[in-house]
Amino acid sequence: MWKDDDIRIMNILDSAEVNEKKQFPVFCPICGKKEGHLYFHKYSDNENVGGMWTWCSACKHSAHTRFKLSEWWKNLEIINFQELSSHPDYLEKNKIIIDEWINKLIQHNFIQSSTGNQMGAYTVFGNAESFQR
Ligand SMILES: [Zn+2]
Repeated sequence: MWKDDDIRIMNILDSAEVNEKKQFPVFCPICGKKEGHLYFHKYSDNENVGGMWTWCSACKHSAHTRFKLSEWWKNLEIINFQELSSHPDYLEKNKIIIDEWINKLIQHNFIQSSTGNQMGAYTVFGNAESFQR
């Protein structure tokens, strides 16, 4: 069902650039529909390593990688780590609440974007340890 062979789906991360005040869902970098989603999950509270998922509900492209997360990231409580896998079936089912959560976190942590400083996705969220699979 999911197509994980097109790395462009990772560009959803760039959509989270704060100054553009984008709200999830964002435009999919592959099919152009406004169905792009993003979620992170910290593996435990006292480390900053977690997983990152980007996916599009319309064209079903997805990507998953290990990610070094920013300190402010908080897992969404209803997301059960045991249900997560490399493909985002479970995340897709919860996409509405995930979009609300990430929009809220971005707004709460990055309201200072009025300073005009460009903050890219890597500043905002941390960085991927590797894009290789
Ligand atoms: Zn798409």
